[in-house]
Amino acid sequence: MSHKGKIALVTGASRGIGRAIALALGHEGATVIGTATSSEGADKITCALQEAKIAGCGIVLNVKEKNSIDAAVTLMKQHYSMPSILVNNAAVTRDNLFLRMKDEEWDDVIQTNLKSIYSMTKICLRDMLKAQWGRIINVSSVVGSTGNPGQANYAAAKAGLIGLTKAVAQEVGSRNITVNAVSPGFIDTDMTRDLSEEHRNTLLQRIPMQRLGQATEVAAAVVFLASPGANYITGQTLHVNGGMFMP
Ligand code: NAP
Repeated sequence: MSHKGKIALVTGASRGIGRAIALALGHEGATVIGTATSSEGADKITCALQEAKIAGCGIVLNVKEKNSIDAAVTLMKQHYSMPSILVNNAAVTRDNLFLRMKDEEWDDVIQTNLKSIYSMTKICLRDMLKAQWGRIINVSSVVGSTGNPGQANYAAAKAGLIGLTKAVAQEVGSRNITVNAVSPGFIDTDMTRDLSEEHRNTLLQRIPMQRLGQATEVAAAVVFLASPGANYITGQTLHVNGGMFMP
């Protein structure tokens, strides 16, 4: 129960990796606030937490909208307090070959996957500075390190957040706040379930462990980075990818 007494905010906790992170932090004793873009999604999170006997709830948050962020902050302050563990996990893909990519596809991915990290971190950092303790974990992607055809927007956002992670880590390290990234390879979630059989088989050939990862395996890395065992680790990227990419 290394996270007992801590409030953890996990964006995009309605499914996939975010859901697994929310449950894993909760199992370690954290009170978990998980976000979804709809009230049905938020209710689903609340039910999942209750079933697992984890304190906390689901709330609605669209990371692209300032009003939505402000409303979520008000709710957190009313019912809990600001988080000392922030997991920036919410993200989308809008894939297209670069020359065909529409401005909307570029903007949507940069706003959801990168600007959101700026906004959410900024809003949570002040209370962490006051408390002289905080853990910020940003979810990147192997594609941020390797690139991927059809994903220039997604790769740019996921690489960009690694730079942000290192810069903020340097700014707040003296206050006992660590900022790290977890970089998953190909994980079995909604995001990868649409891959064609052919694409999936090609991918598997590039993964030494010859399987997709599980959301729980990414969650374990996040739990570690938030734990006392990782107190002296900051500005790092922890790759969880079955050996697919070795920096
Ligand atoms: P997912 O199953 O598609 O879930 C995405 C989550 O993000 C959902 O909870 C969704 O909420 C939320 N979300 C989407 N747009 C949002 C917005 N504007 N505001 C707030 N929340 C929003 O994704 P996943 O596969 O679990 O991926 C989780 C993280 O891991 C992402 O950062 C992703 O880039 C990264 N990742 C995934 C893989 C993979 O193979 N799956 C690989 C590398 C990195 P709703 O349910 O309400 O839509």
